Amino acid sequence: MTNLNQDLFSRTISLLKQHGIHPRRAYSQNFLINPRLIDWHVQFAELSNTDDVVEIGPGLGVLTEAIAETVQHVTCIEIDSRMVKILQDRLKRFDNVNIVHGDVLKIPISVFKGKKIISNTPYKISSPLLFRILNSQYRLGLFTFQEEFARRLAARPGDSKYGRLSVNVSRLARIKLLRHISRRWFYPKPKVDSILLRVEPNPKFESTLSPMLFSNFIRDLFSYKNKIYKNALKFVLKKWKFNKEEIQVLLKDLPNLEIVVRELSPEELEKQAIILFEKLKDLNYLERIGLSSKEVSSP
Ligand code: SAH
Repeated sequence: MTNLNQDLFSRTISLLKQHGIHPRRAYSQNFLINPRLIDWHVQFAELSNTDDVVEIGPGLGVLTEAIAETVQHVTCIEIDSRMVKILQDRLKRFDNVNIVHGDVLKIPISVFKGKKIISNTPYKISSPLLFRILNSQYRLGLFTFQEEFARRLAARPGDSKYGRLSVNVSRLARIKLLRHISRRWFYPKPKVDSILLRVEPNPKFESTLSPMLFSNFIRDLFSYKNKIYKNALKFVLKKWKFNKEEIQVLLKDLPNLEIVVRELSPEELEKQAIILFEKLKDLNYLERIGLSSKEVSSP
């Protein structure tokens, strides 16, 4: 540990002691003790004095201080009332910080609109949190995620970690893995390493399919991810209670059918899904699988 690390580490320990706080495992409280992480956040989020930031899970406010010094405004959302008290005290010299005591999964997503999001939060909420942000009108996100989850997010066809998560996320966002983060840079030390990654809305994204419909299709299709697409699709349609003759009609003239599911890119899967659901719509089959034609809008 460098001196600076040692310094942040001792300050963290003494702050916790001073307030009689034991980190709560239920909230996965692991506080950053390496100042390099603070610099990386400021640098990779390209923070400037015109930015409006939402910080999720500020904890003891180490990162919040650096953000508040740099940007126009910060809203931090913290679930633990003990942390909120510390934050109120520590950040009182700033007039551009708003501390919200609450659960980020319950706060209306309108708070993310136009904002840069910075988040180092419990791994167990990674997925719901990420999708809430992706469905908001956020500007940019800088997340610290468990390494395994981060690699699944960024995986492309052919990677062993490529799957439903990669496909569902990539239609909505661009993901860039930035830095590996050692578990030793937190106190208490978590069980795994993390990755700092940047997320931006996918400007090209446009679809005639609702996210729910697409993700349900991908869920069913990826149960057969090692099968040739055509065969996987047969299984999916069978699961959706279509009979042999109907399946034959539905599969007729579908292009690109000889590729293994896990080799299909998100863009190709989107294309295939649109073709399939247009067909289902034309044949009046949508209601049969519990969908209304609203879920497939006209191109
Ligand atoms: N970002 C700080 C603290 C990380 S610990 C740092 O890097 O040092 C994770 C923080 O997220 C804790 O302060 C915890 O209380 C908070 N947290 C956990 N679940 C949350 C939720 N659902 N909504 C808001 N904050 C949450």
